[in-house]
Amino acid sequence: MRTEAALPKAGCAEPVVLRERGQHEVFCGLTGIVWMHRKIQDAFFLVVGSRTCAHLMQSAAGVMIFAEPRFATAVMEERDLAGMADANEELDKVVSRLLERRPDIRMLFLVGSCPSEVIKLDLSKAAARLSRSYAPNVRILSYSGSGIETTFTEGEDRCLAALVPELPEALNDAPALLVVGALADVVEDQFARLFAAMGLENVGFLPPRRSSALPAIGPNTKILLAQPFLTETARALAERGATHIPAPFPLGAEGTTAWLLAAANAFGVDPMAFRAATAAPKARAERALEPFREALSGKTIFFMPDSQLEIPLARMLSRELGMVPIEIGTPFIHRAHLMQEMPMLPEGVAISEGQDVDRQLDRVRAARPDLTVCGLGLANPLEAEGLTTKWSIELLFTPIQGYDQASDLANLFARPFDRRTRLRV
Ligand code: SF4
Repeated sequence: MRTEAALPKAGCAEPVVLRERGQHEVFCGLTGIVWMHRKIQDAFFLVVGSRTCAHLMQSAAGVMIFAEPRFATAVMEERDLAGMADANEELDKVVSRLLERRPDIRMLFLVGSCPSEVIKLDLSKAAARLSRSYAPNVRILSYSGSGIETTFTEGEDRCLAALVPELPEALNDAPALLVVGALADVVEDQFARLFAAMGLENVGFLPPRRSSALPAIGPNTKILLAQPFLTETARALAERGATHIPAPFPLGAEGTTAWLLAAANAFGVDPMAFRAATAAPKARAERALEPFREALSGKTIFFMPDSQLEIPLARMLSRELGMVPIEIGTPFIHRAHLMQEMPMLPEGVAISEGQDVDRQLDRVRAARPDLTVCGLGLANPLEAEGLTTKWSIELLFTPIQGYDQASDLANLFARPFDRRTRLRV
């Protein structure tokens, strides 16, 4: 028996999108290591890059000084860049020293950067060569986090896409659900409990918490994306036979319900079982959002293109908290992944894809929104001009998906107003 509950009503079917091609102001894909290294607990990320890359990692993840970090940078010196040293030989030495010192590492990612790309260091070949030496104890993979190729959330996409060929083949034809996208462990546990309560048992998560727990995949695997920026990963999973479940993303009470419902519908979950599993946490999330709705309703918001989370966020903030998006800028729009989200945006809202930072800043200054969501590099200058800002990167470092996190997500948008009010007192 299939569930009959419907997805939320659409606002407008096909919004007009302004395409911008110009100067970008976005972190590179190396930044993804900051949240990915916390997720796969026996993996290590070795950036093959320059001192600039090392500084970025250090400042983006400064808190790690208290722990044995699970990432590092193999710094390419001038001799490497000038082609005077054999970069492959140097890399083999670094990897050998690292794996000797850290026997706990079971999966090593070689992460490409702008400098390794410029000198055309082939990290996929290096990973294959090193894998032959260290298998079966350590799996060695590679992907690019370079700023030439990736924006900051695409680092996660490239990392997960590199994992897909490693996933074991499903041993039987049993239908399976695979949730794709890094979620905080606490959020993953909540979703696992909700799926179990609906009667869905064969549920896997990518990335897994340990490299030895890679989920199996086969033609009866259906994938539910937890993040909107996983284009390459979804494509690689489709090539392995998996099918995509179109769904809004699990942000807010409504978004989480619609996301869970899409999975429930795909597996023919009984509507009563779905309601029994979701009614109480949904009601709790809606209650938790009420005070934020009072504080945020009617406030205007402008999204600079940064994380690719902008469209689902704007949907949640407008529908559940009454905020008014003026412009939703996003680096890329993957229409198949956002087909449930786009019609839920307020009718007539301006949407821009790509970036031309100066033109966008002109529009921000003209509109003077109550809140601007942007990268770190733009926040300080805009604050200095009297505008209130929110760093988009915080939305990746904070657990925001699911019912129990709905109020934390709302609070991230309420806090900049509190801060500004306190500064004025
Ligand atoms: S990969 Fe490129 S953009 Fe990223 S820190 Fe290194 S040099 Fe800068």
